[in-house]
Order: sequence, then structure tokens, then C-alpha cells
Amino acid sequence: MQPAVFLDRDNTLIANDGDLGDASLVRLLDGVPAALKSLRDAGFRLVVVTNQGGVARGRYGEADVDAVHRRIAELVDAATGMERTIDRFYYCPFHPEGVVAEYTREHPWRKPQPGMIVQAAADMQLDLAKSFLIGDAPRDVEAGRRAGIRTVLITRDADRIARAHADFVAADFAESASIVLHQRHEVFVPQEIARTESRHTAATRRVRLRTRDEGAERIRKAVLELTDELRSDRNRRRESTPLRFVATALVLVSLLTATFAFLNLADLLSFARWGSAAVLALLLSIVALLVDRR
Ligand SMILES: [Mg+2]
Repeated sequence: MQPAVFLDRDNTLIANDGDLGDASLVRLLDGVPAALKSLRDAGFRLVVVTNQGGVARGRYGEADVDAVHRRIAELVDAATGMERTIDRFYYCPFHPEGVVAEYTREHPWRKPQPGMIVQAAADMQLDLAKSFLIGDAPRDVEAGRRAGIRTVLITRDADRIARAHADFVAADFAESASIVLHQRHEVFVPQEIARTESRHTAATRRVRLRTRDEGAERIRKAVLELTDELRSDRNRRRESTPLRFVATALVLVSLLTATFAFLNLADLLSFARWGSAAVLALLLSIVALLVDRR
């Protein structure tokens, strides 16, 4: 994906205050070819986006628009010494107040709608986050803003500057190109996208909070279950079973026989017999406890 500079045509690249359908009248504005070359050299694709409501008003036809664009491309290429300095020309021939029926309507390509920019981005796989628009009218700036790209307004008119809300203002095309070249490495977050991001961040935070709550609840349940288990285990241990009874009896027998063994300490044979019985009883009681535990 490459970045692009979207270019308004009339009074941005060429001088034109009226309807221009005659290619022989095309005149590039001062400094335009050199500035376009500097943008191309910096890696920008160049795309013209122009409203041509003159078609809908019956002043000229689409073939005339194409001829004007061929002438612009020719003059620019001759001056820059490059081929296809300008990558593509998009134009909107529609106008809601036209006289030619087939062109008389509103259209998503007509600036201030962002249709041409969006279409070019899809056709040419352009990176809009790194792209710019240069134009001389508030509707150019508006189209750029709606497409979420940075905008440079060429004007010296304070009223236009106030109405357009452009990111940057330049006195002429050369200055607008130099602004783009200086700004191209700056990180740009369009306002609309910034609002979407913050909504997304808020949603993420809510999810995180919910997850944290769910995590705490799971831990609480696990602790309760463990406590229950320990309690029932303790209860189980408190219960008396026949084997425990046997084990207890054997311990008593062991103690008793051990006492006899010590009482017969003088008689070694008796001591050995009672002593062996005591050890055996003790061992049996241990075995009984082990079996009971299982
Ligand atoms: Mg213009």
C-alpha cells in the first residue's frame, strides 16, 4: 500500500475560473510540475479528483474532460521529464441542478462527498492513513476530511480558511507540496477515527473489567469448594470405623504388653516375648489405620 496525494484540479493545478472544455486553453499554475515531481520522488501516488458539473450543465461532454486531462498530463510530463507523473484522473460529471438528464442528480463522487478518494484508494490500494489532499476550496477539504486524510488548503482568503477547517493552509501549490513533504512522517489520527478508537478503548475496558470480575468470582467459588472439601474430609476423619476401633484396641494391647515386658525385665526371655507382642500389636494397629485410610 502506497500513500497518495489527492489533487483538486481547477485553481489547484491549472488556472480555471469557469467551465473548461477546451484542452487548448489548459495552463498549469506556476511551480506545479516541479512540486508534483518532488511528491512523486518522495513515494506518493498522484491522483486528481475533480468535480466537473459542467458536463451536467451541458457546457461540454465527458470526451472534452478526458481531452483536458490528457493535455494536463502531457504538459506535466514534459516539464518533469517523467512518464505518467499523475497516476490517474477521477472526475464527477454529475450535478443536482444540471440540464442533461442523465447527469442531473446528486452523486457520492461529488465533493464534498469523499467518493472519488474512496474509489481511488480501493482501485489503487492506497494507504489513506498516510495520504493527503490538496485543494483550493472548502468542499475539497471536506471531502478529504470525510475520507479521513490530512488536508492542505491553498488560499490567501481568511474567510475560506475559517470555513474550511483544513489541517494546513498554503499560499500556493509549491508550498502545499512542501507541507506534505514535511508532514508525511508525522503520526496522524483523524478526528473521526480518534472518536471510534476511544469508543473501542472504552468497550475493551468494559470487557476487561467484566473479565476481572468473573475471575474474582471464579476464585471465590474455588476457595469455597476447597473449604467444603476440607471440612468434609475433616468430618470423614472424625467418623469412627471398625478398623479404627481395631487399631485403637491394638494400640492398647501394645501398651499393655509393653508394660508386662518392662515388669519382666529381670527375665530376659519373658521380656523378649512381651516386647515382641507389643511391637507386633503396634505394627498391626498401623496396618489397620493404613487400610482404613484407603
Ligand atoms: Mg478548485
